[in-house]
Amino acid sequence: MHCPFCRNPDSRVIDSRTSDDGLSIRRRRQCPKCGGRFSTSETASLNVIKRSGVVEPFSRDKVVAGVRKACQGRPVTDPDLAMLAQTVEETIRQTGTSQINANEIGLSILQPLRELDEVAYLRFASVYQAFESLEDFESAIAALRAGTA
Ligand SMILES: [Zn+2]
Repeated sequence: MHCPFCRNPDSRVIDSRTSDDGLSIRRRRQCPKCGGRFSTSETASLNVIKRSGVVEPFSRDKVVAGVRKACQGRPVTDPDLAMLAQTVEETIRQTGTSQINANEIGLSILQPLRELDEVAYLRFASVYQAFESLEDFESAIAALRAGTA
């Protein structure tokens, strides 16, 4: 990162903060040579650690693909799914993390999916929270009815 004043190739970060939407990091820098201050904006990277241990970049498309199955036959549109994937990404980025387990993504999908479609939510939750019996469904439905899920 060259200093815009004297072209010195080195600079020191004096402040960094995540933007409100969580999608970028704004850094305040100072040139050690001339003392000039300037700002840079960088896209924050977000990686997913899969169960196999493989690390790959977060992908909204993969969130949509995962949720789409649970939404089969439900009145959920592609724009609904795109909005859900955006909400999930922003929620994760706002935590300030740069790496997240694939399973945690599944869990962070639950809340926005519940608001979108309760049947799709139950299908998805049964996989990600490993429902094993009818009782698990019953308690999830009871929580939905009580508004506490
Ligand atoms: Zn400088």
